[in-house]
Amino acid sequence: ADKIRVAIAGYGNLGRGVEAALVQNPDMQLVGVFSRRDPASVALLDSKVPVYAMADIEQYQNDVDVMILCGGSKTDLPEQGPYLAQFFNTVDSFDTHAKVNEYHAALDEPARKAGKVALMSVGWDPGLFSLNRLFGETILPEGETYTFWGKGLSQGHSDAVRRVDGVKKGVQYTLPSQDAIARVRNGEQPELTTREKHVRECFIVLEEGADADTVRNSIVTMPDYFEPFDTTVNFIDEATFAAEHSAMPHGGFVIRSGETGTQSKQTIEYSLALGSNPEFTASVLVAYTRAVHKMASAGEVGARSVLDVAPGLLSPKSPSQLRKDLL
Ligand code: NDP
Repeated sequence: ADKIRVAIAGYGNLGRGVEAALVQNPDMQLVGVFSRRDPASVALLDSKVPVYAMADIEQYQNDVDVMILCGGSKTDLPEQGPYLAQFFNTVDSFDTHAKVNEYHAALDEPARKAGKVALMSVGWDPGLFSLNRLFGETILPEGETYTFWGKGLSQGHSDAVRRVDGVKKGVQYTLPSQDAIARVRNGEQPELTTREKHVRECFIVLEEGADADTVRNSIVTMPDYFEPFDTTVNFIDEATFAAEHSAMPHGGFVIRSGETGTQSKQTIEYSLALGSNPEFTASVLVAYTRAVHKMASAGEVGARSVLDVAPGLLSPKSPSQLRKDLL
């Protein structure tokens, strides 16, 4: 069969992750990368495909089956999503929870007009975690759903730590509180405050001559960022920092705790431990790219989210093969 022709719009962490993920999916083929920057300045990982100017993207309507949007959720996607839905079937990782319906409406109209599918908010949260929240609340209607994030690198808190006097290098990880997770797994259905759900952990390389206790104190008492949390501060040397704190790990848990029938306790748990957040998110985008291609080929049009996609569509296997292998 012909390969699904895929292109990438926007080439940052996620774009690089998509390039790598496509290599693991031989039924799909990367045909090009689009960027707002000078194409000559954008270096791809390994692919030999061309980098094109985003301004010329309309010209490639007939050369691409699905466009994977890898722009940022804050300012890129609200503009690029609706624009590109006029020309391509699209898939994106829009993660601004407060604006999901606004964004859905903005995609739906151009996609319908063009006869395309625009699949939004694909990734792990939103994305795989959303699906697991749905399974939880529908299968166990009487219960509570808990989402814990981490261990994860937090960009905003890492920036805040690096602005403290005496800090040469620093990162901040958010971790789920083990105590809170244990209570939820135990079926207690506790009401947890922000402080009870997550703890913060910093790894710092000090400037020469800086005092560790002073730096620690400035961090843990920082209003809004750290004061409301239990924070530990670890001091390390530069070599350790480079070796152990250069990746972008993330992950978390979705747990549904409920009761059925005669008060039987039931728990559903889904967890992710990700060595690289962007590479994993990209892998989810690529699996859903296959689904978008199938949905569009079957004549579907308009905006969709992961909640609207049948799971079998993600697979390169036929429905009968899937039944045989997985049922
Ligand atoms: P980046 O900041 O790395 O990339 C965003 C855009 O910035 C790119 O599309 C690119 O556009 C531009 N860009 C990249 N590198 C440079 C550079 N050196 N100089 C100037 N511009 C650059 O963001 P990420 O790829 O890390 O994340 C993208 C989005 O993914 C996030 O905003 C988040 O919303 C989403 N996400 C969703 C998740 C989920 O579970 N749903 C999980 C993780 C992320 P161009 O090539 O046009 O210049």
